[in-house]
Amino acid sequence: MGNPRGFLETKRLKEGERDALQRLADAREFVVEPPPQAVREQAGRCMDCGIPFCHSACPLGNLIPEWNDLLHHGQEDRAVARLLDTNNFPEVTGRICPAPCEASCVLNIEETPVAIKLVERSLSNLPGDEIFAPRPVLPATGRTVAVIGSGPAGMAAAQQLARLGHAVTLFEKDDRLGGLLRYGIPDFKLEKELLDKRFEQMRLEGVTFRPGVGVDHTNAEEIARTFDAVIVAVGARIPRDADLPGRGFGGVHFAMDFLTQHNKRVAGDRIPEAEVISAAGKRVIVLGGGDTGSDCVGTSLRQGAREVIQLELMPKPPLQRAPHNPWPEWPLVLRTSSSHSEGETLRQEEEDKPRLGRDWAVSTVRFHGEGEGADGRVTSLEAVRVKLEGGRPVPLGEESFHLPCDLVFLAMGFTGPEHDGPVGAYGLAKDARGNIVTDAAGCTSVEKIFATGDASRGQSLVVWAIADGRRVAAGVDRYLREGAAAQAKAG
Ligand SMILES: Cc1cc2nc3c(=O)[nH]c(=O)nc-3n(C[C@H](O)[C@H](O)[C@H](O)COP(=O)(O)OP(=O)(O)OC[C@H]3O[C@@H](n4cnc5c(N)ncnc54)[C@H](O)[C@@H]3O)c2cc1C
Ligand code: SF4
Repeated sequence: MGNPRGFLETKRLKEGERDALQRLADAREFVVEPPPQAVREQAGRCMDCGIPFCHSACPLGNLIPEWNDLLHHGQEDRAVARLLDTNNFPEVTGRICPAPCEASCVLNIEETPVAIKLVERSLSNLPGDEIFAPRPVLPATGRTVAVIGSGPAGMAAAQQLARLGHAVTLFEKDDRLGGLLRYGIPDFKLEKELLDKRFEQMRLEGVTFRPGVGVDHTNAEEIARTFDAVIVAVGARIPRDADLPGRGFGGVHFAMDFLTQHNKRVAGDRIPEAEVISAAGKRVIVLGGGDTGSDCVGTSLRQGAREVIQLELMPKPPLQRAPHNPWPEWPLVLRTSSSHSEGETLRQEEEDKPRLGRDWAVSTVRFHGEGEGADGRVTSLEAVRVKLEGGRPVPLGEESFHLPCDLVFLAMGFTGPEHDGPVGAYGLAKDARGNIVTDAAGCTSVEKIFATGDASRGQSLVVWAIADGRRVAAGVDRYLREGAAAQAKAG
């Protein structure tokens, strides 16, 4: 156990944040890590409960009480090793996981929870880059696996299988590896040098990378013929559209088009002038209140937007847990991201012109603009107020209102994996929500083709993608070894 009186003597410490005005002027991470001694004291708040709920709330089953105890007793190396037993990429989850573990921490019933994510992040940042050192790899099995898609699910699957001795090739249609970690999530949440270090480790462990190679009907069959197993980890990348009058006006974009471009610019790429989507000096409306919408807010503020309004269809969540949402469930409460708090700082700095507004229970009915279609420009958004009836939002009345704008970002979720990639090429069965159907081991409806991550779960979280990638790797390993054993018997 950490410190038997730790939670009585030490208050929960939140991660520090860089000054909002300063961080808005650059692309660097917003977090400031507390000194190691303070993190060790935080680990000491862990009560080592008889029945800990935290590690079953963590999709990876991270052994949280164990690494808290080791860190508290100054055994950093062992704590890191314990963390890496279950989590391939703690440098990622320690930064961007919403930490369902903390919501279910037993201390959270009466007190404030252990700062688990802070401890995880700190362990992943220990000097010497221990977590990026190549790990031992089992002797080569002679079996080959193609992984299609290099997001966290494909990364975890590829790393696990390479460590088990299989020859893994990772295909990625984008020019750089990392999926949404690279081109969705902005640098202010996750700096991309961390991904580069991780891919270098995977290369040294034997994974072969093929960036810039999309898999579709032209090469899917050849890949299936060449490799002993294929894992489809293409994410759920079809954005939900707003099929409304005026949708075709210039200035109405999918959030991912904006975020991808921004991430590429931060990485040093030059975007052709005609394609640039810039929020500088503009009035921006973001439709959608989730992570994607919040990332559009932070990115627009960094680009110097004149005003940003974020609209959400669902009602404003309560500030505290409702009685029907008790511990240890995930609390359905109002969340304020680092991007929202930046907007709040700007409001205090510039009292006369608040730069960020958030509104809930609002449904867009039409975009207005000037000019024709894509050559024209959006000038305002018309919306109505809604209320929930039987779980569905219905208009409160006939009356609509207008919000002037120059840019609209659609961040209303995703509807499944693209059909023109391996899903269509292999003819994989999909469920009613458009996701690939798999069994618990990740097998699809087609022999030797497996699927994992958002492509089979639907748009979710990075921690689930890593857990899914590890699970499919175990399934593929079993499939390859059983196949090899059957062949040996037949021979
Ligand atoms: C803007 C945004 C912010 C988010 N923020 C958070 C957050 O803060 N915390 C959190 O936990 N989760 C967050 N999420 C969700 C999280 O990023 C995803 O759940 C996770 O990345 C899913 O991983 P994946 O590997 O299944 O898919 P992806 O990350 O989508 O990766 C799929 C990869 O497959 C590639 N691919 C697709 N088709 C082909 C093809 N035909 N051939 C070859 N390659 C192909 C794609 O280019 C991509 O690189 C966010 C999502 C978005 C969109
Ligand atoms: S990965 Fe997420 S849920 Fe798991 S221990 Fe880390 S912060 Fe908690």
